[in-house]
Amino acid sequence: MKVILMSRADSAATWAEELRRQAPDLDLRVWPDETEGVDPAEAAYVIAAKPPPGEIAKLPNLKAVLSLWAGVDHITGDPDYPRHAPIVRMVEEGLTRGMREFVLAQCLNAHLKTYEFVQQQRQQLWRPEIRGRHGTEPLVSDARVGILGLGVLGSDCARALTAVGFRVAGWARREKRIEGVDCRCGPDGLQAMLAQTDILVNLLPRTPETEDILNADLFAALPDGAYLINVGRGEHLVEEDLLHALDTGRLAGAALDVFREEPLPGKHPFWTHPKVTVTPHVASITRVRTGVERLVAAIAAFERGETPPGVVDPSAGY
Ligand code: NAP
Repeated sequence: MKVILMSRADSAATWAEELRRQAPDLDLRVWPDETEGVDPAEAAYVIAAKPPPGEIAKLPNLKAVLSLWAGVDHITGDPDYPRHAPIVRMVEEGLTRGMREFVLAQCLNAHLKTYEFVQQQRQQLWRPEIRGRHGTEPLVSDARVGILGLGVLGSDCARALTAVGFRVAGWARREKRIEGVDCRCGPDGLQAMLAQTDILVNLLPRTPETEDILNADLFAALPDGAYLINVGRGEHLVEEDLLHALDTGRLAGAALDVFREEPLPGKHPFWTHPKVTVTPHVASITRVRTGVERLVAAIAAFERGETPPGVVDPSAGY
């Protein structure tokens, strides 16, 4: 039983080292250097981060494809993906905590207008009033955060934001119950949430239903001066609609971590837009030690004939 690590990232060697440390009995082969001459029929598991299209289809006897990332659109989006084996998305503590820290920071930055003060500094401007009238500056308890997606990451961020004192609502496909969070679902639920959202956080997976969801209609449903934080996927955002909403003052600003094209091309208007903060897809990544613990546990579960957590529903795409 062979396990193929299929990652084009520089970190492949680090993953292989930790996998061999935690599971020395695993017959691990790093693609492509260590898979030459290996019979494709012997591959039982693929551990993948953005596998090249068509490569997984060459392995006919897979028991599962284990994603190194929480989002699996890089696997389901492969037109040749054979759907002969379940996909397991990454759910692990380090990834969840990293996203919590990033989203908390961006919500606080939006609330405190940190990036507007950075712009002011560049122009040597002293305008404290952008935080509100002196003595009535809003506190987090005045700020309403709406989260698109209440899955592993969205629900964790919702709880953390609630604990800090934000007023938090969230939207998912199915009904949810999270203490202190106004949970919504369905098209009406979305509109109701958007109408009461000052800071919108996108933590949806990329599926055919969610692509382009951050568009002019959605921005029109937000109160004037709302702020967007996109940590989902670049394909969720209609970029021209965002630029228009920022330039007309509909939205106050946006913190963008993910893009249709990554790295973001040099001439892209987001780089220099005064109301946009760009981060290079760093909101959260899988931590190697805890991530490998999950991978090893998932393989063990399959070998016992059990289903590990995080198996993707192929009809929903996440
Ligand atoms: P998850 O546990 O699968 O949660 C997805 C959530 O989205 C669920 O609440 C789901 O609703 C909701 N959803 C899906 N389709 C929907 C639709 N059509 N309408 C309404 N709600 C919908 O995923 P996760 O682990 O939280 O990760 C979310 C995403 O974050 C990933 O897919 C990835 O794209 C992104 N991500 C980004 C980074 C980064 O560094 N920027 C890092 C990690 C992950 P139900 O609960 O009803 O199923």
